[in-house]
Amino acid sequence: MALTSSFFDEGTLIGVLTTQPLDRVLDYRAPEGGCHLGAFVEVPLGPRKVLGLVWGPGRGDYDLSKIRSVIRVLDAAPMREELMSFLTRAGDYTLTPMPAMLRLATRAPGLGDPPSMRKIYSLGDGIPDRMTDARTRVLDVLRDMGGLSLTLKELAEAAGVTTSVVKGLVKQGAVREEDSPRDMPFPTLDPDYAGKALTEDQTVAAATLRASVATRSYGTTLLKGVTGSGKTEVYLEAVAECLAQGRQALVLLPEIALTAEFLTRVDERFGAKPAEWHSGVTMTERRRVWKMTAQGGAQLVVGARSALFLPFRDLGLIVVDEEHDTSYKQEDGVLYNARDMAVLRASICGAQVILASATPSLESWANADAGKYQRLELTSRFGAAVMPEMRAIDMRNEQLPGSSWISPTLQRAVQQRLDNKEQALLFINRRGYAPVTICRACGHQIGCDHCDARMVEHRFLKRLVCHQCGETKPMPTTCPSCEAEDKLAAVGPGVERLAEEAQALFPEARLAVLSSDMFGSARALKAEIETIASGGADLIIGTQLVAKGHNFPLLTLVGVIDADLGLQGSDLRAAERTFQLMRQVAGRAGRADKPGQALMQTYQPEHPVIRAILSGDEQDFWTAEAGERRSAGVPPYGRLAGIILSSTDVQEVFDLGNALARNDGPLRRVGAQVFGPAPAPIARVRGRHRVRLLVKAPKGTALQPALAEWVKPFRLKGELRMAIDIDPQSFY
Ligand code: ADP
Ligand code: ZN
Repeated sequence: MALTSSFFDEGTLIGVLTTQPLDRVLDYRAPEGGCHLGAFVEVPLGPRKVLGLVWGPGRGDYDLSKIRSVIRVLDAAPMREELMSFLTRAGDYTLTPMPAMLRLATRAPGLGDPPSMRKIYSLGDGIPDRMTDARTRVLDVLRDMGGLSLTLKELAEAAGVTTSVVKGLVKQGAVREEDSPRDMPFPTLDPDYAGKALTEDQTVAAATLRASVATRSYGTTLLKGVTGSGKTEVYLEAVAECLAQGRQALVLLPEIALTAEFLTRVDERFGAKPAEWHSGVTMTERRRVWKMTAQGGAQLVVGARSALFLPFRDLGLIVVDEEHDTSYKQEDGVLYNARDMAVLRASICGAQVILASATPSLESWANADAGKYQRLELTSRFGAAVMPEMRAIDMRNEQLPGSSWISPTLQRAVQQRLDNKEQALLFINRRGYAPVTICRACGHQIGCDHCDARMVEHRFLKRLVCHQCGETKPMPTTCPSCEAEDKLAAVGPGVERLAEEAQALFPEARLAVLSSDMFGSARALKAEIETIASGGADLIIGTQLVAKGHNFPLLTLVGVIDADLGLQGSDLRAAERTFQLMRQVAGRAGRADKPGQALMQTYQPEHPVIRAILSGDEQDFWTAEAGERRSAGVPPYGRLAGIILSSTDVQEVFDLGNALARNDGPLRRVGAQVFGPAPAPIARVRGRHRVRLLVKAPKGTALQPALAEWVKPFRLKGELRMAIDIDPQSFY
């Protein structure tokens, strides 16, 4: 960005970026009173008024007599140049048009509205005519607040009275009622509130991180440590340093369900809760977070990947917890990886990044190896906890009746825990009851009408569900193909079916089933997790959801039903993912004082990945995996981009794919190769035919400009869509 000036006088030609899908910045005239670079404005566009951002001087290549004026400057802090630069570079990297980038940065409602008001209550000077218990409680609560105010609801709840008691005191002047803007700053966090005494390992890591944050400059640290080693405890010290510097911090978590536990820990460490940003947060609260990050009224934000696009006033630290987690990659809309974008934003605003994980991604492992990232390691679990013993159950030697999945060996192990009043977890990475429903008469498998995918039976929902498009239908009683009655049968296990088997084997056990589709809300899930953690269940049956960071102190046994499941795909990260997932799941066991055990059912105990998981020899595993990726020239030792074309017309989509493949000049010039077109592994989703091309290039290739030049001549007519996925994580 060539920036000439940061203020534009009234009438000056300015360029305004809007969130509308236009391929250029539009010229307008600065409004009365002028406007700042980065100001949020409302501009006329055709008959409409749309949100825009003052992006720079106007281009002046448009008929001057037709240029209109900005309608008004919105009541929001102008976007800082750091964020403008981040949006530009993230857009360039992901080949995303700028209007879509601006949409990411303005995901809060009513940004331009004047601050709405609400009533707040504090201690007044008046003396009530008579005192009651209820009145005394209200005044006591307010005295405790030391001059701070509460809302009516907060005050009534804290005092355990009805709101009319408060209102009565207001009338007598004993309680003061005032108007206050709704977007209030978040409570102040105190970096010195209550640090824990750290172990030697933790102290060293914390001191290193604090020193890095104190440099007030960019740097990335890979914080590796087994589950339960105290990574959170350690990175909270880095947050403390950041807050002490007067800068803001952002902690990204891969799963909303993890925030509740984290908020409590922040409260314990800093004496107040941080701001929260994710899909479960109300719109008014989102607006408050957005505004307060810009004004400095939020010191710490905990959130999902989109929190990276908040308008922080002075961001000094970004923590990416569970950095290997695939949910950091956004798989629709703007295809970005929040982990990589965190590093980009930090490098622009002079912040530190901490990538925390028990099982880092190969990308981060390689960056640390190459010296680009600092590496810190916590080797032992906190307190008496030790890593669980890992063993394979060789399924070739187990006697299992048809349609059951819990081997006799695993059954005995679970029974033993139940007898000892300890918890056990059975893990299967498959939602629903059964992955396949087949007709015993004709062999027909029930598929989705809109996708090339089987429908998955969900007994809990009493429906068949397509995991691709979300389409559901009731379970038919006759075969849709041959119309035979009562011949439809479930094939293969899902988490619900496993729960059924477990309940039959262990009739006395209290079961808890944890699968993402079984909870209507994050709150319900959180409540269930708390119940389990406090001993409200004996046997947990769960999907991937349980692998992520929850603390179950009573859990001493993890049984993996199918350790081979993830190894079947052709995905280049199949080995890495299986290794990470198995270690994460196993890490759930034995977190408190009792040692844990992990048993993995497998038909191929001699498979190198299974052997690596069992031996726990990570260095060996990563070295071997890195060697294979290096010789194949794939990430992190080569570059990939996925091109996904789709259309309702199968011919059209292949024609475009072939035309792209034939005209690959711009790619060849930079040494990149294109593969395909080929039907995508799931060749039809939501009625759209999907075709993939894969572009491969040596590491260090400037791939994006070549890709942009390559696709530019192709106009997408009618139903055709093209998505470019830089550094693809999924290949479906
Ligand atoms: P990780 O993030 O590596 O999984 P945590 O930070 O969650 O580990 O620590 C695991 C458990 O041990 C938590 O309950 C945490 O509060 C506790 N813990 C870790 N370090 C300490 C410490 N130095 N003092 C007291 N408790 C600790
Ligand atoms: Zn479908």
